[in-house]
Amino acid sequence: MFKKILIANRGEIACRVMRACREMDIKTVAIYSKADAESLHVKLADEAICVGEGGNSDSYLNLANVLMAAEISGAEAVHPGYGYFSERASFAEALGAMGIKFIGPSVKAIEAMGDKAMAKKAAIQAKCPVVPGSEGPVDNETDALKLAESIGYPILLKAVAGGGGRGIRRVDDSSELQRMWKLAQNEAQASFGNGDLIVEKYVLEPRHVEIQIIGDEHGNVVHLGERECSVQNLRHQKIIEEAPCAVLPQKTREAMGAAAVRVAKAVGYSNAGTVEFIMDPSGEFFFLEMNTRLQVEHPVTEEVTGLDLVKLQLHIAAGGKLPFSQKDISLTGHAIEARITAQDPDKEFAPSTGTITRWNAPGGRGVRMDTHAYAGFTIGPYYDPMIAKLIVVGKDRDDAVARLQSALHEFDVEGIMTNIPFLRRLVEHPDYILGKVSTSFVGRFLQETDNAG
Ligand code: ADP
Ligand code: ADP
Ligand code: MG
Repeated sequence: MFKKILIANRGEIACRVMRACREMDIKTVAIYSKADAESLHVKLADEAICVGEGGNSDSYLNLANVLMAAEISGAEAVHPGYGYFSERASFAEALGAMGIKFIGPSVKAIEAMGDKAMAKKAAIQAKCPVVPGSEGPVDNETDALKLAESIGYPILLKAVAGGGGRGIRRVDDSSELQRMWKLAQNEAQASFGNGDLIVEKYVLEPRHVEIQIIGDEHGNVVHLGERECSVQNLRHQKIIEEAPCAVLPQKTREAMGAAAVRVAKAVGYSNAGTVEFIMDPSGEFFFLEMNTRLQVEHPVTEEVTGLDLVKLQLHIAAGGKLPFSQKDISLTGHAIEARITAQDPDKEFAPSTGTITRWNAPGGRGVRMDTHAYAGFTIGPYYDPMIAKLIVVGKDRDDAVARLQSALHEFDVEGIMTNIPFLRRLVEHPDYILGKVSTSFVGRFLQETDNAG
């Protein structure tokens, strides 16, 4: 096993990885920006190296500085977390050239899933159902119009290099497509440095269901069941995730799991990854994309499988074999994660900054908090607004929902605005309690509360 690793990330995920390392007797090196000097991830690490100023591009996304930190720290491996360099093939490649192990899949596998068009091709080759639409980037407006006509409106235009809910645009008819095409291309070019777009049928009232994959470097791949992530904000970003998906028949679960394993095997995938699907109301499912990294919502899978995904990642990166096979995996109970963000629900979820003066986090049986925040910590303007993940587990979904409601009521934060009051109302909505959700649930909820207010 490694003796020392560097964590090329910040916030709760850096803390999460460091805790696993400590239990495994692996020394940890944090990187941090000047704005993050007081973050818990710096305090949890054995060593910490400042990589620059507060802005991401000056520090966590400053490739030369991060690589240099890895070099001078003497770390044998680097864990990238999520976001940042986690899906950047050139980062993994540079580390490899320096003789430092990237804790994740091979450069080839990252590249194969590197953009949405390539990923879709790989899925088709693996005989995995994909959303009807273009098989690669669409060249021009005329082709887009022809394709849209044949699959039917509404459609989505997706930037092949988009991510985190960015670069997706719904189009309802041909005149809108004519208006939007050039604009969407330019926007994609400006945001991601790549103007390529794919066209996809917009699946109505869908659920987002994804499969956790884990593979070793000896050709074994197993799936660890699904997560339901349909509770998303208006920008297609996940807010609440759960495992298992309450409405997935066992037959569909097995088919989706098998399809995800086929996709992973087709690209020689190793380490942790997620194959995302969109599922229509009839239960038919289609491949969306593969995220070649640890996912924000991985804890719900941990809570129902009893596995530690970060420890498995380290074991695999060190050359270890998967310690189980598919038949050993079973799901027990029900887990739910709520993303706690520093955002003001009364100001259209604008980011909120300031010093946290009170942080009374919930606890008790079946409650897990993954966070880098504490009373006295200052939330600055530089980073993603997510400041904590509240994860609950219960014997079944009703039990887990009750625990989540109770934990959210207990959660008492002052000094900054958070989405906690919004989450409390959301998980008390009858449709949420009954599990009757699709990706349009939050939109409808916001409309209802708007009308009520
Ligand atoms: P997950 O399913 O793990 O939540 P997301 O797609 O929401 O995955 O992304 C996880 C994190 O990475 C988020 O903090 C998001 O802001 C960031 N992220 C993902 N893709 C990009 C991208 N292309 N550009 C910038 N940030 C991204
Ligand atoms: P990202 O890289 O931003 O995560 P995804 O392709 O995974 O992009 O899509 C993000 C979200 O957008 C999905 O979870 C879903 O809510 C919505 N979405 C994506 N594709 C479709 C589709 N074809 N039909 C309906 N909704 C979709
Ligand atoms: Mg996605």
